[in-house]
Amino acid sequence: MLMQIKNVRKQFNGVDVLKNVNVDVQKGDVIVILGPSGSGKTTFLRCLNFLEQADEGTMQFDTLHLDLSHTSSSDIAKVRKKTAFVFQNYNLFANKTALENVTLGLTAGRHVGKSEALAIGRQALDKVGLSDRYDYYPAQLSGGQQQRVGIARAIAVKPDVILFDEPTSALDPELIGEVLRVMKKLAEEGTTMIVVTHEMKFAQDVATHVIFMDGGVIVEEGAAEDIFVHPKHDRTKMFLKRIL
Ligand code: ADP
Repeated sequence: MLMQIKNVRKQFNGVDVLKNVNVDVQKGDVIVILGPSGSGKTTFLRCLNFLEQADEGTMQFDTLHLDLSHTSSSDIAKVRKKTAFVFQNYNLFANKTALENVTLGLTAGRHVGKSEALAIGRQALDKVGLSDRYDYYPAQLSGGQQQRVGIARAIAVKPDVILFDEPTSALDPELIGEVLRVMKKLAEEGTTMIVVTHEMKFAQDVATHVIFMDGGVIVEEGAAEDIFVHPKHDRTKMFLKRIL
């Protein structure tokens, strides 16, 4: 087991946003988290690499055993070294080129030497189909290209798991496909991923495990077929009816 996440609870302003959320992640899993807006999907993802602090919960991550509500800064740093986060709004530095955005996490974050970082960065950009855009600034790139830089930045650090937070929801419809294709390729290569998304076809085609959340709890989970073809719970059925 790569990650075993147990009993995550989180409140905002006294309101439960996550309650008793448990997720197991094996190496190579593509876990897709679905659910209506406000159901806690993003908060859960953010608790995993401490962009939010859970009020309760534990995480076993490889050899680390963590209390998510009381984690030392050195353990937080260790988890962040093993994870990469792909944001809905890309979170690129506007004043840095595509290549600089990708190499920064290597040179500043992981003390990789400059020439090695450049080689890794170019390779990562090649992989997401941006070999002709190394020196472009974010403003000179389409949203789909910016998000592919975001993905290149994630793969460059060779994380154990990549966390994707609605990676295509800020994109115009015609740009979504190029990002999903890159993600599908990573999945096929065995990259471990946890993906919050509303892209149902991606979930059906690529997920090894689908989790449906509503109201801060996991209502139902299973193989894509279990959720999409044989959903058991009314809330899952209603959600799918609305979205498909
Ligand atoms: P989802 O990703 O499923 O749309 P979120 O995790 O973004 O859901 O949000 C779950 C709930 O937590 C929502 O009611 C949202 O308004 C609330 N929430 C999220 N982040 C914050 C925050 N930083 N402060 C207060 N409330 C928040």
